[in-house]
Amino acid sequence: MNKEKLEQIKQKALQEHIPIIMDDTLAVMEKYLTELKPKRILEIGTAVGYSAMCFTEFLASDGIIDTIEREEERVKEAKENIKNVGVENKICIYEGDAVEILPTLNNKYDAVFIDAAKGKYPFFLKEALRMIQPHGIIFADNILYKGYVLSDYNKHKQRTAVRNLREYIKEVSENPNLQTEILEVGDGLAISRIK
Ligand code: SAH
Ligand code: MG
Repeated sequence: MNKEKLEQIKQKALQEHIPIIMDDTLAVMEKYLTELKPKRILEIGTAVGYSAMCFTEFLASDGIIDTIEREEERVKEAKENIKNVGVENKICIYEGDAVEILPTLNNKYDAVFIDAAKGKYPFFLKEALRMIQPHGIIFADNILYKGYVLSDYNKHKQRTAVRNLREYIKEVSENPNLQTEILEVGDGLAISRIK
C-alpha cells in the first residue's frame, strides 16, 4: 500500500469536507481489528475509499472489504484512489443505495462498519446482525452526532437522524447477544461485540 498517496487522498478529502473517519476513531478501531484479524469486512458508506483503504492494513492476508456507496461521483473517485494506492485486490465496491444492496448480500463478515445515512442505522443494524460472524464486531460511526444524541434538544432539523441514532443505541444496548460500548471518540463510536 502506498502510504504517501493515502495521505494525499486524506488531505484532499479533508479540504473538500468529505466526512472521512477521524484519526482517534481509526486508532480505536485499529486496536480491535488488529486483534480480530478479519477475513471479511463490510463497510456501509465508502465516500472516496479512505477508511476502507486504512482497514486493508488490519485484514488477514487473504482478506476482503465489501463497501457500499450510492453517490456515483464518489464511487468513481474511490475506485481511482483504491487503484492508485494499490489495494484494488482487497476492496470490492458496490454502487447503489445500501438499503437496496444489503438485502442482496449473503456473506459472513467478521466486522461491519456502519458510516452512512444516520436515519437508516436501525435498518443497517438489522442487516449487520444477519451477516455478522459469531465472534464479530459491529462498529457504528457518528453515533453521538455532534452531541445531539445525548442532549435533550430535539427540535433540531436533523431530528429524524437523532431519533434513529437513539434507536440504534437502545437496540444494541438491549440485545442480550451483544456487548456494547459507546465511546466519545471522533463523532461518537458504538462498538458492539457478539457475545
Ligand atoms: N467511510 C468513509 C466516509 C463515509 S461518509 C470514510 O471514513 O472514509 C458517508 C458516505 O455514505 C457518503 O459518501 C454518502 O454518499 C454515503 N451514503 C449515505 N447514505 C447511503 C446509503 N443509504 N447507501 C449508500 N451510501 C450512502
Ligand atoms: Mg463517519
